[in-house]
Amino acid sequence: MNLLTKVQEQLATLSLKHAAQELEKTMDMARQQEWTPLQALEELLKIEELNRLDAGKLRRLKAANLPYHKSLDDFDFGFQASVSRRQMQQLAEMSWLEGAYNIMFLGPPGVGKTHLSVALGLAAIGAGYRVLFARMEQLINWLKTETISSRSKKQLLHLYRANLVILDEVGFQQISRQEATLLFGIVNRLYQQTSIIITSNHNFEDWGEFVGDPVIASAMLDRLMHKCELFSMTGESYRLKHRERILPTE
Ligand code: ADP
Ligand code: MG
Repeated sequence: MNLLTKVQEQLATLSLKHAAQELEKTMDMARQQEWTPLQALEELLKIEELNRLDAGKLRRLKAANLPYHKSLDDFDFGFQASVSRRQMQQLAEMSWLEGAYNIMFLGPPGVGKTHLSVALGLAAIGAGYRVLFARMEQLINWLKTETISSRSKKQLLHLYRANLVILDEVGFQQISRQEATLLFGIVNRLYQQTSIIITSNHNFEDWGEFVGDPVIASAMLDRLMHKCELFSMTGESYRLKHRERILPTE
């Protein structure tokens, strides 16, 4: 066995699979560029590191539970005038995550609330952050079954460790007092630690109603709004406007 094959196998045994794959090329490069042995080693480790970062990104993407993968580039800002491309691109730089700021997208169905949340979630994952997406109904279900379902427990663990939690469809349906208390528990736990993106079809005045308890509703809003960027989205439903038909129009 020649030395190259031997070192390749050693790297593979040590789980440095990308370094093993790139060893020959890197050694050729080292000769051409007249690198010192240490420079060649650094290059090889960098290759391993970069490839692992990608594996990490893939892992974070899977763990994020996003309903679909649409980016800001897929968003037609001409159709939705309540938010601007510039604003969203600024948010996609993610500095607000460090300050645990929140974002709220409020508005009727189909205006792009979930799409923009997902796009910011993807940008966060790309920047190295851990993200978890959940519809409010899902989250409440996880909380109620935490002790009896290992899947719920796992999702909540992801949630507690996330840098960004996307809570979608808040208030889509009425919740009980007990459920409101569970939801408040989460908001309180994340408060000032973890950024939350909320999407809701309700204005603040309606929160008391769907939460079923005005005191819990205002305590929750208080925490969410303390450091928050709010987008009140209006306009037509993109879904209805771009509805796909079965029959051709006559
Ligand atoms: P909601 O506000 O109800 O959460 P969504 O964000 O889910 O709406 O949007 C509904 C569908 O329409 C999605 O497939 C989304 O990608 C698409 N959509 C909504 N607004 C736009 C837009 N301005 N440009 C491109 N696609 C859009
Ligand atoms: Mg939605």
